[in-house]
Amino acid sequence: MADTQVLIIGCGIAGATAALRLARNPKRRVTIITRASDPEESNTRYAQGGIVGRSLDDSSELLLADILAAGAGASSPVAARILAEEGPQLLREILEDTAGVVFDRDQQGERLWGQEAAHSRRRILHVGDETGQAIISGLMSALRRTPNIRIESNVTAVDLITFPHHSRDPLASYRSISCHGSYVFNRQEKTVHRYLADVTILATGGLGRIYRNTTNPPGARGDGLAMAHRAGARIANAEYVQFHPTALAVPGAEGLLISEAVRGEGGVLLTPPGHPFMADYSPEWKDLAPRDVVARAIHHEMEAHGYSYVLLDIATRMPAAAIRKRFPYIYSECLKVGVDISREPIPVVPAAHYFCGGVLVDEWGRSNIENLYAVGEISCTGVHGANRLASTSLLEGLVWGSRSAQDIEQQLESSGPEPLVDLNVVPRWDESGLTADPDPALIQGDMQTIQNIMWHYVGLVRSADRLSRAIRELRHLWNEIETFYRTTKLSDGLTGLRNAIEVALIVAQAAQHNRQSRGCHYRHDSVYLEGDRLI
Ligand SMILES: Cc1cc2nc3c(=O)[nH]c(=O)nc-3n(C[C@H](O)[C@H](O)[C@H](O)COP(=O)(O)OP(=O)(O)OC[C@H]3O[C@@H](n4cnc5c(N)ncnc54)[C@H](O)[C@@H]3O)c2cc1C
Repeated sequence: MADTQVLIIGCGIAGATAALRLARNPKRRVTIITRASDPEESNTRYAQGGIVGRSLDDSSELLLADILAAGAGASSPVAARILAEEGPQLLREILEDTAGVVFDRDQQGERLWGQEAAHSRRRILHVGDETGQAIISGLMSALRRTPNIRIESNVTAVDLITFPHHSRDPLASYRSISCHGSYVFNRQEKTVHRYLADVTILATGGLGRIYRNTTNPPGARGDGLAMAHRAGARIANAEYVQFHPTALAVPGAEGLLISEAVRGEGGVLLTPPGHPFMADYSPEWKDLAPRDVVARAIHHEMEAHGYSYVLLDIATRMPAAAIRKRFPYIYSECLKVGVDISREPIPVVPAAHYFCGGVLVDEWGRSNIENLYAVGEISCTGVHGANRLASTSLLEGLVWGSRSAQDIEQQLESSGPEPLVDLNVVPRWDESGLTADPDPALIQGDMQTIQNIMWHYVGLVRSADRLSRAIRELRHLWNEIETFYRTTKLSDGLTGLRNAIEVALIVAQAAQHNRQSRGCHYRHDSVYLEGDRLI
C-alpha cells in the first residue's frame, strides 16, 4: 500500500507538468507512476513536428481562429481561448526555464519557426524532428531533481479506487462518486497494491493501439479512459479519432510517422504514377489542408485506383543536406528500411494518430468524479473539437497539466491536512482462486481482432452497416475477454486487453450515435458538416 496526497497516473508531458507544478509547494507529496519500465516511454517521446509557440507576427486571436477552424465547429471556444492565451507563456516557463529544452535557432540565434497544416502562421517550435524526445528528457530530469516527487515505473494502474464501488460503508451509496487513488499492479512482483490519494490525476495518454495501423507506441491502449468509464466518468467526443495522413508504408517500419512538417517544408503528395492530387481536394490549402481532409483524400485515391499507398515527395523540393538536417530522425529511420528520403519519394498511408475525445473535464481538468482530474490526450477539454490542429496536443498537456495542479493546490490548501481515506474501508485486491497464468497467444490474438475490427469498420470512412457490424463483434469479444479477465491471474497485457475492448466499444458506439459527419468522424452515409457548411 502506498499513500500520497496526489497520485498522477502517467508521466508524459501532461502528468509531468502537473507533478512539477504541484511540487513547487515543498509540503506536497506527489507520486507519479508509469506502466513503462523506462519513464520516458510515452506518446510524448515520439512527437516529431513540435509545439505551438508565438512568433512575432502571431497573436492568440490568430491561433484561436485556426484551432476553431480545424475543429470543424465542435471546439469549445472557451477552452481553445485558454490554450491560445496561456500556452506560449507556459511553454517558456515550464519547457524552457524548468525543463531546459532548447528549441532550434538559426545562426543569428533567432528562433526557427516551423509551418504545419492549417496554421495561418509559422509558429511551431521544434528540436529537429525529435521534439518529443527533447521535451520528455528535460521534464524527466526536472522530475528527478525534485525531492517531493516520487517516480515509480513498471507499475500498471488497473482500476481507480472509487466510492461507493470500493467502499465497505453501505452509506457511501448515497454520496456522489469520489476517487481515492488506484489499484496498481507491480509488474515485477506480480502483485496488486492499493495506492490511496487525496486527489488522482489521470494522464495516461491516447488509444491509437486499438487500430491496426497507428503511429502510437504499444502503451497507447486507452487504459485511463477505460478505468474512468468503469468508474462512471463522463466521456465526450469519442468518435473523433484523428488519422494522420502520412505514416510510412514499408514492411518492418509500418506506423512510423512522417511528420506534417515535411509537407510544411514543401513536401507534396503524389499518386504512385506521379500526379499531385491535393489541389483536387483542397484548392486553397492543397497539401497543407487540415489532417482529416488530407487523410480522406489519400484514402479516396487509394480506394478509387487500388493503390496500396501514395507517395510523399520532399526529395525534389528541398536540398538533400537540408532534409538531413531538418529531419534527421525520419531520414535515418527510413534509411534503415531502404528509403532514402533525400533522393526518392516516401510511400505513405494514413494511420490512427490522436484521440480528440476523452474524459470530459472543465477548464481546470476536473472530471465529474470528485477528486479525479484528467489531463493530456486522455481528457476532452473541448480544444480539439472534431479535429485537432497540428502541434496543439503537447501544448494542451502543458496548459491543463499546469491548470489542474493550480486547482488541486487551492483545494488541498483550503481543505487543510485532512487524513487520507481510511485504508480499512478500501478492500484489498482479491485474486483468490485464480491460478491460470494469462496465455500470451490469447491476448495477442484478441488484440489483433480488436485492431482489425476498428481499422475496417470504425476507421477513416464509416457507415451504419460497418458500425453495427463492429459493435456486434466487439460485444461478443467483450464477453470473452471479461470471462478471461475474471478467471486468470493479472498481467499488464491482460489489463491492456480488457481496456482496449472497453474503449473500442466506446469509440464504435459514439460513432454509431453520431450520424453527422464532421471533422475526423466521416460517415459516407450522411451529410458532411464543416463548421456550419454542408459539404
Ligand atoms: C508519433 C507521434 C508524433 C506526434 N507528434 C506531435 C507533435 O509534433 N506535436 C504535438 O503537439 N503532438 C504530437 N503528437 C501527439 C502527442 O505526442 C500526444 O498527444 C501527447 O504527447 C500526449 O501526452 P500525454 O501526457 O497526454 O500522454 P503520453 O505522453 O502518452 O503519456 C502517457 C503516460 O501514461 C502511462 N500509462 C498509460 N497507461 C497506464 C497505466 N495503466 N498505468 C500506469 N501508467 C500508464 C504511460 O506509460 C505514459 O507514461 C504525436 C504523437 C505521436 C504518437
